[in-house]
This record gives sequence, C-alpha cells and structure tokens, in this order.
Amino acid sequence: MNPTMWSHVATQRNALQLAQDGWRLLGPDAGDTACGEEGLGRMVEPETLLESLARCFYGDSKCRALISLGPTRSDVDPVRYITNRSSGKMGAALAWAAVERGWEVTVVRGAVACVHVAPLPLAVRVVEATTTQQMKAQVEKEFARSDIFFSAAAVLDWEAASPASLKIKKNRTALSQHPFEMKASPDILAAIGKKKKSGQRVVGFAAETMDGSTGDAERGAIAAAREKLRNKGCDAVFVNPVAPAATATTGFETDRNAGWWVTSGSVVRMEPTSKLQLARGMIANLETP
Ligand code: C5P
Repeated sequence: MNPTMWSHVATQRNALQLAQDGWRLLGPDAGDTACGEEGLGRMVEPETLLESLARCFYGDSKCRALISLGPTRSDVDPVRYITNRSSGKMGAALAWAAVERGWEVTVVRGAVACVHVAPLPLAVRVVEATTTQQMKAQVEKEFARSDIFFSAAAVLDWEAASPASLKIKKNRTALSQHPFEMKASPDILAAIGKKKKSGQRVVGFAAETMDGSTGDAERGAIAAAREKLRNKGCDAVFVNPVAPAATATTGFETDRNAGWWVTSGSVVRMEPTSKLQLARGMIANLETP
C-alpha cells in the first residue's frame, strides 16, 4: 500500500481491531512506495518477515550465540596480504539458523572478500575484524557474555613475521632483502576453550584435505576432529573434507557442505546439503541432550 492508504481511518480502525483480537501485524515498513510516495506502506523485507515468523514459532530461548566467520588476513607489505578461501557462508548460515531459533546472535566477521556473498539477518549484531589479533580480541570480549561460541572463521595458522613497511619490488634483490618469514598466528579457539566456564559451550570447525581411500579419508578426518576436540577444549567439532577449488561442490566458497559432527561420545555423519540446512542440523544436535 502507500502512506495515504495506511493512514486512512478505515485501515487504521481495522488494523487496531486485528491487534486487539490478538493478531500480530508485520509491517508496514517506511520508505519509498511504488507509486512514488514516501512513508509507511512498504512490505516488510522478506528476510525480516522470515525472522519475525521464526520467532513466532520458536519463541525466544534467550540463548546468546557468538559466531566467528570468514578468513583473517595478514599483511605482507602495504599492497599484499595472505588470507584463505573462506567466504563466511557457513558462519552466516549458522547466524540464520540461530536467529530462527530465537537466539540472540553476535557475529565477529573476518576479512571476507564481499559481505554480500554471505548476508546476515538484520537482528544480528556484527563486529568487524581483519587480522587474527583483532578477531581474537573481539571474540574474547564477546565470549564473556555468550552461552555458545561457533568458531566458524577460517583463522590463519601462519602469518607474515615482519610485514615490510614499503612495497616489496618485483626484482629478486628486493625479495632476497626481505626474506619471507612466517610465524604462527594465535589460536583463538584454543584460547577460548581455556576460558570456557560451566554452562558455556564451544563448537570448532575443521577443514581437512585427505589422501587415500574413502575409508581412510573418513577415519583421518574424524581423528583430526577428535584431536581438536581435546586440544582446543571444544564440546563438538564439525569436520569437512576439502576438495581442490576447481572441483569442489561443498565446503569453501560453495553453498553446500557435508562432514561429520564429532563429540567426545559420538560421530554423526551430516550428508551433503545447503549450509543453512546443515546449520539447522548442528543446532538440533546441540539441543538434543
Ligand atoms: O587447527 P585448525 O586450524 O584446523 O582448527 C580449526 C578450528 O580452529 C576452527 O574452528 C578455527 O576457527 C579455529 N582456529 C582458531 N585460531 C587459529 C586457527 C584455527 O581459532 N589460529
């Protein structure tokens, strides 16, 4: 509708009557309307409608979730950096699934190539981080008031030891004057695992490249997940195999994923599906006692 229709006395009387009868109106929103007028009359954006509807069904469980997503970045010189293929889609899917459950969600978003590739629900609070150190500081700050942390970010394991202050020139002499040394990045998940208090839960993610037969690959992935479960103080680890970029249909940069949900007492195979469906499955796993 447009502002004139919405403000009409009959529309207002009917809207009030519906509200008094217990119906909840979603909208209208304010903004430009199709007829060129500006004001109340727009349909609520579909994403917001979805969030509001989900809250009607699931209620508000008061769980506060913290989700890290996307890659971190380390500068090599003022024009170059190291990062990885993470798009942030898995973390964003978790944010949608958590909002659907009525959870309160904070996202610490890393240096994603494009924020529109992994849009987030409007209800989510977003904190930006570029480097691993910035992400660690934000995650540690936010974790103190969170019930659950999903460490879906692809945090760098290694970063440039001493970034050059000037651009490293193309010639070999310049490169030899600036030997490319790497140092280990801080492990955010391991640090959070140590800070975890009773009642708080931590979910880690692992992306593993595999060789060998299918059976070996599966055993290898699950063993890697078990190791992270122990070493990083996680309550669950989701592990997915990584295929070469050219042939991958799940995992990094794609809309789908598959893998294993590993806890201290169980391994659940999660079949290939959309990241949103997978995220819903992960939350269901957490809600199952
Ligand atoms: O050891 P790996 O890098 O495979 O572990 C992956 C998990 O650890 C992910 O949940 C990731 O977010 C987290 N991680 C981290 N800090 C790092 C490396 C990984 O928090 N420096």
